[in-house]
Amino acid sequence: MPEVTRFAPSPTGWLHLGHAYAALFAQEKAAGGRFLIRLEDIDGTRARPEYEEAIFEDLAWLGLEWERPVRRQSEHFDDYRAALKRLEGLGVLYPCFCTRREIQEEIARAGNAPQGPDGPLYPGTCRNRSAEERAQRMAAGEPYALRLDVAKAAGLVGGDLEWRDRGRGVFTARPGVFGDVVLARKDTPASYHLAVVVDDALQGITLVTRGEDLLEATHLHRLLQALLGLPVPEWWHHGLITDENGKRLAKRDDARSLRSLREAGWTAERVREVLGRNDG
Ligand code: GLU
Repeated sequence: MPEVTRFAPSPTGWLHLGHAYAALFAQEKAAGGRFLIRLEDIDGTRARPEYEEAIFEDLAWLGLEWERPVRRQSEHFDDYRAALKRLEGLGVLYPCFCTRREIQEEIARAGNAPQGPDGPLYPGTCRNRSAEERAQRMAAGEPYALRLDVAKAAGLVGGDLEWRDRGRGVFTARPGVFGDVVLARKDTPASYHLAVVVDDALQGITLVTRGEDLLEATHLHRLLQALLGLPVPEWWHHGLITDENGKRLAKRDDARSLRSLREAGWTAERVREVLGRNDG
């Protein structure tokens, strides 16, 4: 079956060698199939049009070709709203009114809070609020986020979920790794986790390629797919490109941005050659 893959950058900075690797990896795995690009720009405070233009420029310079139109998440909030509605109907979402600070205080109070890949897990403060209190606080205009009651959701699905990584084999999903994650905020009807799962399904992605830093997220994504009745792709998490000190590259690492390298006289061939030495 022809493969459909995608490269999904956020237009919040210049692409660097790590992105080039991810994009080339995705395109290579689509060999003979379709290669798509998706702009993950739901964070309107950080996404900038000049970064978006630069993404296309850099990828074209690298010699990549992709299908058009490109899906831009900020243009599809209705799709994420529909998914939220379905989750709401299943009774697995709850409004969370906690501020960041309240969460930190609660975690400090509780002592050894369980840790997830992104730090301590949300302690569940708002999980058991009464329907009246929720309604009252929402009516009063208090800001809130929608969190997934992950234990309840996993219970609904019943039994273990599995997912397959082409490089690493079959995993049994541990959907609770991130705890009760935020799936939406009052003014943004999507988070990374929700949008990526909805988009991969809508775009017909058969093989999700991405860095191994996102491997843990797949456990949660697998649960969301089950709850939303979405097709389950396969994954291929690849190694990350690091600097000479073994540290992974970050967007703020301007010196290694593709545009800086280009300005310094690098050719696309040289980029490919350098990246070819790192195996996925
Ligand atoms: N937008 C994500 C990033 O830039 C990638 C998401 C994904 O591939 O699932 O890290």
